[in-house]
Amino acid sequence: MPNRLFMKRVLITGAAGFLGSHLCDRFIKEGYYVIAMDNLITGRIENLEHLFGHKYFEFAHHDISNYVHVAGDLDYILHFASPASPIDYLKIPIQTLKVGSLGTHNLLGLAKAKGARMLIASTSEVYGDPEVHPQTEEYWGNVNPIGPRGVYDEAKRFQEAMTMAYHRYHGVETRIVRIFNTYGPRMRLNDGRVLPAFIGQALRGEDLTVFGDGSQTRSFCYVDDLIEGIYRLLMSDYAYPVNIGNPDEITIAQFAEEIIKLTGTSQKVIYKELPKDDPTQRQPNIDKAREILDWEPKVSREEGLKITYEYFKSLPEEELYKKEHNDFEGYIRK
Ligand code: UDP
Repeated sequence: MPNRLFMKRVLITGAAGFLGSHLCDRFIKEGYYVIAMDNLITGRIENLEHLFGHKYFEFAHHDISNYVHVAGDLDYILHFASPASPIDYLKIPIQTLKVGSLGTHNLLGLAKAKGARMLIASTSEVYGDPEVHPQTEEYWGNVNPIGPRGVYDEAKRFQEAMTMAYHRYHGVETRIVRIFNTYGPRMRLNDGRVLPAFIGQALRGEDLTVFGDGSQTRSFCYVDDLIEGIYRLLMSDYAYPVNIGNPDEITIAQFAEEIIKLTGTSQKVIYKELPKDDPTQRQPNIDKAREILDWEPKVSREEGLKITYEYFKSLPEEELYKKEHNDFEGYIRK
């Protein structure tokens, strides 16, 4: 067993979330001391339950939009705290703006004070409804700042700007990953995202709700591939944004058909209104990740969907019928 005095220490924010919890697993596996931080607004403590009691793991229940204190050294900070599904950030828009701006600022200050390298989770949403396809990192985006998605998109754009400023002005070592649609075990069944929505509907014997005519496209990356890309980016010396995602693009209507086949449901597709500013197409150009990180996704959608379906099936049945896993009421009023 390593001596904890000489272990590398990493702070992961949003640690109880879908991606944060997978990152905790990865860093524990790599032999790091992991400090997991989350305010549990959208994160689920169940995602970390298996790590409680681990010698090199600790959990801090904290909202990073307030001053962040961590005792001792820090080698790395991975900033994954933010609501990330449209349903969530529409419900808690102010918290979404705060965690992307104030939260990021607090963590950059911490990184500077500790001499830690910091990686921030950015998003394909910085490209908005893109006019360049597939999206390269050089594209500046087409974002509506005052639309419903603006609270997320602009917080993430500001987060990138703030990160580059700390890098340029204070010399903080920073990394920026632009994450495209990702799926896998530990997504919240009722977070409103298309994959858990469709699988949940199939498991409950409901029709699958396709928004709009279903011709909008997305490109889905399996979580293990994404975590590998993030790990490589953190260890690289590249400070500019890098797209990590799977370029295998599909329309949402086709995706619904795949889920119908996967689950064997006898339900059909029904069409609902397309949400405002819903991007019409999305596919990452991953040339940079290939070149700089020698990374590309390995898990096919067929394989990844099977694993994810098994996960959702293994959840207690009452999970299927919970409207929400989290109660936002108190936060909305603040
Ligand atoms: N979508 C859908 N039915 C649902 C949930 C989502 O057709 O029940 C669509 C949504 O309008 C979008 C796509 O699926 O075009 C992906 O939505 P998601 O919320 O997963 O993420 P986004 O990529 O829009 O951030």
